[in-house]
Amino acid sequence: MLILAACIVTVFLILFMGMAALRSAQEREAREKAILAENNSGPAQWQKEGAPYIDVQLLTPNEYSRPQIALNEVKYIAIHYTANPGATAMDNRNYFENLAETHSTKVSSHFVVGIEGEVVQCIPTAEISYATNERNVDTLSIECCHMDETGDFEQATYASVVKLTAWLCTRFGLTEENVIRHYDVTGKNCPKYYVEHPEAWEQMKEDIAAQIQEDYILQENL
Ligand SMILES: [Zn+2]
Repeated sequence: MLILAACIVTVFLILFMGMAALRSAQEREAREKAILAENNSGPAQWQKEGAPYIDVQLLTPNEYSRPQIALNEVKYIAIHYTANPGATAMDNRNYFENLAETHSTKVSSHFVVGIEGEVVQCIPTAEISYATNERNVDTLSIECCHMDETGDFEQATYASVVKLTAWLCTRFGLTEENVIRHYDVTGKNCPKYYVEHPEAWEQMKEDIAAQIQEDYILQENL
């Protein structure tokens, strides 16, 4: 009988502690959302301004992927491909996160756009990422997922990266002329499909330019 009572008490204690932990996590999340809302910022506001939905999953600060070095002025937005066919945006984000443990290399990007068009943010735009070599100091980087070795983007990925890039251009006072490929900085075959098909790259820049116009109109009417 005594053992049974002890068991019941233990179960209740575990339940209670679990609920308290859950409640404090929920409270923290609510507080963070309130701060974002107060600053007229956050994913819902960004969408009104023309951004795709952004899942903010910031990396734990660490010297291998999120060194927390200030990015004082955004001059370029660089497009990359992950060279990792079939992997999702979160897979790539988690790879960056794990570098804090593995220390195997220094690499990361501000955003990863997934095969289904999902967008994950890994690093705040006020900090540098490790993606674009000597341009890291003044460049926001976007990694794009892809299905196969050609490196061509799925339609959903393409649509999201155009929207994301246009919104960032509008935010930082840039135009499609400030949108570059990793290739334009180092000659690396990245993003592969858009290096090997220059006409597809020109088309993407035209699509970004058209979206920038739409975003300006959207934002004027907010
Ligand atoms: Zn690249």
